[in-house]
Amino acid sequence: MHRLELVVATKNKKKLEEIREILEDLDVRLTSLAGYENLPRVIENGKTFKENAVKKALKLACFTGKLTMGEDSGLCVEVLEGRPGVYSSRFAGKSKSDNRNNLKVLRLLEGVPEKSRRAYYASAVALADKDGLIGVAEGTCYGRIGFEQRGTFGFGYDPLFVIPRYKKTFAELGPDIKHSMSHRFRALKKARILLQKYIERRAKS
Ligand code: IMP
Repeated sequence: MHRLELVVATKNKKKLEEIREILEDLDVRLTSLAGYENLPRVIENGKTFKENAVKKALKLACFTGKLTMGEDSGLCVEVLEGRPGVYSSRFAGKSKSDNRNNLKVLRLLEGVPEKSRRAYYASAVALADKDGLIGVAEGTCYGRIGFEQRGTFGFGYDPLFVIPRYKKTFAELGPDIKHSMSHRFRALKKARILLQKYIERRAKS
């Protein structure tokens, strides 16, 4: 029997790479949107990560006709009342730059002491097929915002995101540790269960 194909609906290469690494041992064939032409534009204007993830999954599943995963994620800083939140990728403007986003966070936290620099990453993973939404899974990961960018692994806010237990940022810790505790890892761990049930249902029908 052919392995089930799962299209990961993201244009963010780093994110796709992480999803591939985390789901490496899953018995599905992960593909991306590369190669599709005239992709529908998904306007990420939801108020929550979940809303955006569902929107991506449904729209792209309808377009590809295949089992599709939408993921939306971001950084929420407590003292900034949850910002950048759903605006994480474009926090410093439309032209999306990780470095500018990080510098903006650092600027907004100037003078804020370590104990008040609490933040968390959140990830929502939605699964859909041509018949509609299959389910949504969410994950979070808590940390602190550092005082400068440190490390070269990962992407986005990773050079700022300090894991207190290690006193190092995700960008310093690297993929093995990040993938054992990240928001994306936690959401995907739950999404695996949804996928497994989906595969079993399909096998029975
Ligand atoms: P999305 O592609 O619209 O979901 O944007 C997610 C944005 O949130 C990214 O561009 C990053 O700025 C941030 N983000 C999400 N997950 C991570 C992560 O694992 N590390 C660092 N930044 C992240």
